[in-house]
Amino acid sequence: MSKAFHFGHIRTRQYTAGYTRIFAKDLKSLLTLPLGKYCLTDEYNSISIELKQIDNGIRFFKTTNTIDKQEIGLITCGKSASTKLYLTCPYCQIKRQHLYEFKKGYSCKACLKLSYASQSEGKQERLARRIRKLRKKIWDNFPDINNLIESAEYFPKPKYKRWAKYELERAKVIELEKEFWGLASSQFHRLFGKDWDSYKDLM
Ligand SMILES: [Zn+2]
Repeated sequence: MSKAFHFGHIRTRQYTAGYTRIFAKDLKSLLTLPLGKYCLTDEYNSISIELKQIDNGIRFFKTTNTIDKQEIGLITCGKSASTKLYLTCPYCQIKRQHLYEFKKGYSCKACLKLSYASQSEGKQERLARRIRKLRKKIWDNFPDINNLIESAEYFPKPKYKRWAKYELERAKVIELEKEFWGLASSQFHRLFGKDWDSYKDLM
């Protein structure tokens, strides 16, 4: 069979507590199947993937019918005799035992949380904008200025700033960051709690 035209269907996804995940352990067949195109299917829909391999033998798959065209690595743990498989999150590249399915494709829980935080309207979004604006005022073009995962607590003091003023301004940013994460986390628990329908409405 030609590698490029291999088609197969792998039923993988599980529905647990109302939300959808793919588990690395269910995708072990991707380590040995011929490279090519497959579908990850379940009773609701089907994600098309292309299984590929890089020169060092590490495999990954591309999602081809999701909004974000993703590349998800299939990483095995060398230490264990029974091969343990992990999937890399396409957003943070951290290896995970499972990924969540959402509107754009797959994501780990941490990145999904951030994604909702940045997409949600209202207070949270205004807070994020305000934090970034204040950060820009203090740190100007410091690389992580727009990255809310990084707390401003660890940003360096700009040379020209006076300590007293700097401490005050920085404290304000950190306070807003705390408020932001409080909202993000309560929203996330709400979304991933029992009420799957409200979760979907917000996507
Ligand atoms: Zn991630």
